[in-house]
Amino acid sequence: MAWDFETDPEFQKQLDWIDEFVRQDVEPLDHILGSAWNIRDPDFIKLVRPLQARVKERGLWACHLGPELGGKGYGQVKLALMNELFGRSRFGPIVFGAQAPDTGNAEILAHYGTTEQKARFLEPLLKNEIVSCFSMTEPQGGADPLVFRTSAVRDGDEWVINGEKWFSSNARYADFLIVMAVTDPDATPYKRMSMFIVPSDTPGVEIVRNLGFWGEPEPSHAYMRYTNVRVPVDAMLGGRGEAFVVAQVRLGGGRMHHAMRTVAQAQRAFEMTCERVVSRFTKGESLANKQMVQEKIADSWIQLRQFRLLVLETAWLIDKHHDYKIVRKNIAAVKAIMPSVLHDVSARALHLHGSFGISTEMPFSDLLINSYHVGLADGPTEVHKVTVAREVLKDFKPSNAMFPTYHLLEEEARALEKYGALMEGVPTTRAPA
Ligand SMILES: Cc1cc2nc3c(=O)[nH]c(=O)nc-3n(C[C@H](O)[C@H](O)[C@H](O)COP(=O)(O)OP(=O)(O)OC[C@H]3O[C@@H](n4cnc5c(N)ncnc54)[C@H](O)[C@@H]3O)c2cc1C
Repeated sequence: MAWDFETDPEFQKQLDWIDEFVRQDVEPLDHILGSAWNIRDPDFIKLVRPLQARVKERGLWACHLGPELGGKGYGQVKLALMNELFGRSRFGPIVFGAQAPDTGNAEILAHYGTTEQKARFLEPLLKNEIVSCFSMTEPQGGADPLVFRTSAVRDGDEWVINGEKWFSSNARYADFLIVMAVTDPDATPYKRMSMFIVPSDTPGVEIVRNLGFWGEPEPSHAYMRYTNVRVPVDAMLGGRGEAFVVAQVRLGGGRMHHAMRTVAQAQRAFEMTCERVVSRFTKGESLANKQMVQEKIADSWIQLRQFRLLVLETAWLIDKHHDYKIVRKNIAAVKAIMPSVLHDVSARALHLHGSFGISTEMPFSDLLINSYHVGLADGPTEVHKVTVAREVLKDFKPSNAMFPTYHLLEEEARALEKYGALMEGVPTTRAPA
């Protein structure tokens, strides 16, 4: 398997520009603006729109998209290298037109939307004139979609949606929601649900309340209620009973983009840690000279490096195969390891900053909470570990013999059979005398 660790010089120039631009011009927004999805906020319009224009001029807007949708079609490796730079800022993704859940929702619309839906929802979404919401999880269970109850019942030329959804992020700012609902209760488990596009102003769409988590500028994960919400028949995205297939279109890419941005966040915490330990003195010497501190620096660097390589390798495999199913195991592995990397690197950063580190004047508590966020959103870690194990074990067959095929006595017997006649000395043997 060929592998090239070098970035082509032309693209490296773009990366250098992104790095400088994000640190100088984008990151300051994190400290003074609210939600990055509140695109109608006058301050967003004044401060963010000009930065988005510069990204467009530079040809770096919405690079996750293929050329047919106005993107560069760069592929996942280049996208990873970009995300690990702009992902350090809360506003980075929206300034580069690559924010979740809009990226994944755009993929669904590009795949399954009608011409009219693409004109009404996809085009303004790609330009960030509107934002969207993915409304799938329900209050009674998220990790197991088979327990979802929200229903859609056909009535003439319409579907009527009733039910509740949970943690529908950014619903308060969204112009439309993509909603998963049971259309075929008697079908086999993975054929019961379908996906719908629901404009936010449809009668019966209600935000019961918005939940937030520590460190977020404002609560923006909606507890939703859908009461007799009527949408036309063509609001169904994909075939009837195909919600799981449709969801996979967005989830593979979405998980990777989260991982790429997690590299950025962990790297940012790591850089802060390094500055701190070379700056702080205790008992007459720099923290950087203390071996237990050095161990923490080494552990963070190694963990981050391993994770980054796994992300890049998975990105490379996606570019090579263009099929998320083939790289399912790798994507699940990236998703499963991402929370612990961000957690561990952020925890070491917090600890090495002492009391200052735990305070609200430092970002480490936010990063720690964010490590739990990435361990839950798009499915909890346990579920992804199960996927990794299942995929890995598909390549192994059971041995029918009493003892394993690799039993050392058997190995030795096979080796003696192959080479014994050529040997001069008495062969050593594991068999008891
Ligand atoms: C910040 C954030 C944003 C989100 N945004 C959205 C969104 O926009 N749209 C949306 O639809 N959803 C969203 N979610 C919901 C997310 O998809 C769910 O939180 C996730 O699927 C887990 O579901 P749950 O919260 O109901 O936890 P539960 O299903 O109750 O699981 C709780 C815990 O049980 C354990 N567990 C669960 N299943 C297994 C298993 N099979 N094996 C072993 N242990 C298991 C895990 O430890 C898990 O964390 C978001 C979540 C967060 C935290």
